[in-house]
Amino acid sequence: LQWDITLAWGYRTGAARHPDRAAIIDDDGVLTYAEVDERTSRLAHAFRAGERIGLLCRNHRGFIETMTACTKIGADAVLLNTGLSAGQLAAVARDQRIDRIVADREFADVLPDVPTFFSDELESLVLNGPTTPLPRRPPRGRLIILTSGTTGAPKGARRPEPASLAPAAALLSRIPLRHGDVIAITSPLFHAWGLAAFQLGLVLGATLVLRRRFDPEQALRDAERCTAMFVVPVMLQRMLEVPHRPKLRVIASSGSSLPPKVASRTLEEFGPVLYNLYGSTEVSWASIATPEEMLAEPGTAGKPPLGTRLAIVDEQGKPVAPGEIGRIFVGNGMLFDGYTNGTSKESLDGLMSTGDLGYLKDGLLFVAGRDDEMIVSGGENVYPREVEDLLSELDGVTEVAVLGVPDDEFGQRLAAYVVGAETLTAERVREHVKANLARFSVPRDVFFVDELPRNAAGKVVKNRLRERQ
Ligand code: ATP
Repeated sequence: LQWDITLAWGYRTGAARHPDRAAIIDDDGVLTYAEVDERTSRLAHAFRAGERIGLLCRNHRGFIETMTACTKIGADAVLLNTGLSAGQLAAVARDQRIDRIVADREFADVLPDVPTFFSDELESLVLNGPTTPLPRRPPRGRLIILTSGTTGAPKGARRPEPASLAPAAALLSRIPLRHGDVIAITSPLFHAWGLAAFQLGLVLGATLVLRRRFDPEQALRDAERCTAMFVVPVMLQRMLEVPHRPKLRVIASSGSSLPPKVASRTLEEFGPVLYNLYGSTEVSWASIATPEEMLAEPGTAGKPPLGTRLAIVDEQGKPVAPGEIGRIFVGNGMLFDGYTNGTSKESLDGLMSTGDLGYLKDGLLFVAGRDDEMIVSGGENVYPREVEDLLSELDGVTEVAVLGVPDDEFGQRLAAYVVGAETLTAERVREHVKANLARFSVPRDVFFVDELPRNAAGKVVKNRLRERQ
């Protein structure tokens, strides 16, 4: 591990230790550690200490260089989700008090009324940037990331500078990543998972492989020269449809739940290299499942890494018995500092709520889904993930979303949205659930759709399905 803790000095340290190692490979070519360090020191002069820079970019060098330059001069960087609409971006820019934006030109139509420069102009700022030294101790710039907005408007989450390397080291005790690894980051860098992958890569002095757009065939071709790949589950699912199985030491998946069928197929076809990380913007990572754990229990989110505490509690905050579903709380020295609107997540004895429900079985964590997605139908609790995982076992089914919709008789009834099975009927879907789960888990409404609405972080936006009802 070689990280100097702060992002600002990560490339400086890397440049001192292995200047000629490739730091970033992207659609525009290769940059070494020495080059990124020098370029970001020049670029830093384009920003001012204390200002807030919004970043609206796909995965490329400009994203990483702007973020690094901001921290070198002491500016805050707000990582904006590229899937936001003009209205949402305007609201975020106002709420986060963004002074200027660095954006890819393709987003010109949705930009809020804030001074902007485009990422294709960064190169000239880098080339013409002064080489005068930067302040040795700039004020602390912060990274602000937004939650995915799966359940409403995206919330700004303040990210503390990691206080020590211990959490990263603990993670590495469960995932065999190594110094100098070549890591493809296919998930967006603006999302907590992509950012975590980037930060981990910097700690490891890794070469990061980035693409502006995810394309499963290209990703698998890139993987030929990588040792590790970081993905969200829907990307993994798309890669499984392409018949190419490059050899990797690690495929790390996070960001949303990994369907057991996808986990099993990946383990079978890529070998025992899959790791499932469970976490969120607010609590960072909470648990990791190793290939061995998923070979035994494909639906598990594994165990907390060293130094992470997990508690599963009832409504009163009392621990539930093993096997019983409760609310998941986490403590790990990496909890966020609160939302930028002054609110935070609920805490309990130093642990923070993840907003999810889950249970422990033989020491392994199973995430049942988000607390606010639990369906109460006829007085019975239904966890949509259980029904989703079951339906995705059916032949040909590639994606499923189950949600609760208002019902006069039962309070809520289940609606299932199914992708990919042309010969399947609603009756067969209901029968499969009836044969495996309780009667109240059977979806009354079944819709066959071409695709599910997803946000830029690859998550199903159930509210959009709800609006269609
Ligand atoms: P918002 O708070 O704006 O609605 P969000 O909660 O989707 O957005 P994120 O922080 O990106 O924002 O998502 C974290 C959530 O994603 C977790 O709380 C959990 O519900 C889900 N999740 C992430 N990784 C996993 C995993 N490996 N298994 C199961 N669920 C996961």
